[in-house]
Amino acid sequence: MTSINQTLFEQSQRLIPGGVNSPVRAFRSVGGTPVFFKKGLGSRLWDVDGKEYIDYINSWGPMIVGHAHPEVIQAVQAAAENSLSFGAPTGLELEMAQLINKLMPSMEQVRLNSSGTEATMSAIRTARGFTGRDKIVKFEGCYHGHSDGLLVKAGSGLLTFGEPDSGGVPASVAAHTLTLEYNNSQALEDLFAQVGDEIACVIIEPVVGNMNLIVPHQAFLQTLRALCTKHGAVLIFDEVMTGFRVHLGGAQALYNIKPDMTTLGKVIGGGLPVGAFGGRKDIMQCLAPVGKVYQAGTLSGNPIAVTAGLKTLQLIQAPNFHSKLAAQTAKLVEGLKAAAADTGVIFNAQNVGGMFGLYFSQHCPSSYHEIMQSNKEHFNHFFHSMLDSGVYLGPSAFEAGFVSAAHTDEDIALTLAAARKAFASL
Ligand SMILES: *Cc1c(COP(=O)(O)O)cnc(C)c1O
Repeated sequence: MTSINQTLFEQSQRLIPGGVNSPVRAFRSVGGTPVFFKKGLGSRLWDVDGKEYIDYINSWGPMIVGHAHPEVIQAVQAAAENSLSFGAPTGLELEMAQLINKLMPSMEQVRLNSSGTEATMSAIRTARGFTGRDKIVKFEGCYHGHSDGLLVKAGSGLLTFGEPDSGGVPASVAAHTLTLEYNNSQALEDLFAQVGDEIACVIIEPVVGNMNLIVPHQAFLQTLRALCTKHGAVLIFDEVMTGFRVHLGGAQALYNIKPDMTTLGKVIGGGLPVGAFGGRKDIMQCLAPVGKVYQAGTLSGNPIAVTAGLKTLQLIQAPNFHSKLAAQTAKLVEGLKAAAADTGVIFNAQNVGGMFGLYFSQHCPSSYHEIMQSNKEHFNHFFHSMLDSGVYLGPSAFEAGFVSAAHTDEDIALTLAAARKAFASL
């Protein structure tokens, strides 16, 4: 019998490239058919055929209070009755800016838009407008959305021009993007020594969640901060994933480093499309209508999306929210390590707050090069075994995982039982 899922996937592939609206949803990396979902509640999901899963994707982070949280849903329903959009300012946008500024004081001024991609793209344009420089620096394996200048891989040598990492990106655009190895302070020092005064900005995931989970070395972040200050380059923390997830004040609070600009998304929309960028007032004053850097959006700061985000941010300010989330995530990680050890599988895992990384390697990796050496076949087998047992992990060895406040001890216990079975089958 053909499942509803199989039918939907076959039909979707005819009308939607690859059957998905974002490549990470496809199962290209792990093989098999992507799961089509119908419903979520708390930590659980149900697919179109009625199978239940414990969710460790949480829409790639936004569902930090769990799916269909009754307070978020109620707030959204009430807001919808006042119209879905105005294309004119609302008090809600001010409330969001005030809250972001309170939780992340480095964001002296804030602008809202509709996605993380827009946030990083606009932050970079603002940094270029502010400095009058063209070159930007990113790190290998970090993802900052899909704008042209950020889909760039490293050239073969330190100072070679970046090369496009995607079709459709002109080499002339990629050439302005320099790519360095994450956690490599020496490479940073060398680059700044040569072209430091030509660099508009450095953009970084302060904890990387887009090549599995990679934890920054404190000294690396400190070196980065010092070099940007010395050379007048704008330091952009891309906290689209880490913002309000690794700590109430983001990674910048956790590691006590103050960036010049920050980009946000995911959690601040609570599951609806919201992005934000902000930072030093002198930099943000470059933006139109006050300054000469143009940036806009018909649905920017949409009232329904902002309402979902505000309610979510209100819920995560509950006492000990983040320490409980981190403890629950650590329980999962420790349990998985113990289960792997019992079966003799080479495996490691770690978490930062409510984000976790699973690695089929001896050590937790600290760079793109290291994560690429983990055992992808073991991951893929583990992934499918977990999926069969009703545990939904990211469909790639190079994605982080996410725990929400709705994940109970029972969820963790069921996950660990599934993992013991999966490890034993490797
Ligand atoms: C998800 C993500 C983005 C892109 O956000 P979208 O809303 O998908 O456009 C940018 N940067 C980081 C660090 C992300 O995790």
